[in-house]
Amino acid sequence: MRDAGLEETLIEIYRRLLEHFGPRNWWPADTAFEMITGAILTQNVSWKGAAQAISNLKERGWLEPDCILAVREEELAEALRPARYQFEKMRRLREFCQVLAGEYAGDLRAFLSQEVGSLRERLLAIRGIGPETADCIILYAAGKPVFVIDAYTHRIFHRLGYFDERAKYGEMQAFFMRHLPHDAGLFNEYHAQLDALGQNLCLKRAPRCEACPILSLCQGAAAKTKEV
Ligand code: SF4
Repeated sequence: MRDAGLEETLIEIYRRLLEHFGPRNWWPADTAFEMITGAILTQNVSWKGAAQAISNLKERGWLEPDCILAVREEELAEALRPARYQFEKMRRLREFCQVLAGEYAGDLRAFLSQEVGSLRERLLAIRGIGPETADCIILYAAGKPVFVIDAYTHRIFHRLGYFDERAKYGEMQAFFMRHLPHDAGLFNEYHAQLDALGQNLCLKRAPRCEACPILSLCQGAAAKTKEV
């Protein structure tokens, strides 16, 4: 059951972050396929490397499912090299494109228009696509309201006092889904704001609590924090 007090606190956290960092305008992509490619390429690496790999694909005119399947493996892997683990990521990207071509006649819109449960299930069945990547695709490419959890979300909400260090993905996602209105726009910006906080202030080793807009709401600020 939704807790009105908790909802108010979560919205207050969001409001303060938005005021501090400004709108993040996520996801930085021109098309849904570019967004999906970015979500796969940014797994386990910084966005910078993924962005460079996407730029390589754009320069070569390969940022289309058909091209990803048609280009020779060595050439495609070379273009993806800045995203690291390029052969593994190439296989994931190609498998996604094969599903699209084989089961949806290449119609990305039809694929994304499925109901959330079946869309998530189909994405998770693709080798190498885990809950975070699947949920990013559902939220940012399909525009459906699922709350995305990442390492920053875990760290921040552990420090705020809501999550255990060993909290699982599903448990953390259920917390936000239970206590926030299911609004894709809100979830989009909330996730982006948490990433801004995790990248800039709520750092793993030395959080910059003195500059944090949610300091007064944080139970585990500064030296008392445990690493997550
Ligand atoms: S006050 Fe410090 S520990 Fe708490 S969320 Fe902000 S930066 Fe992180």
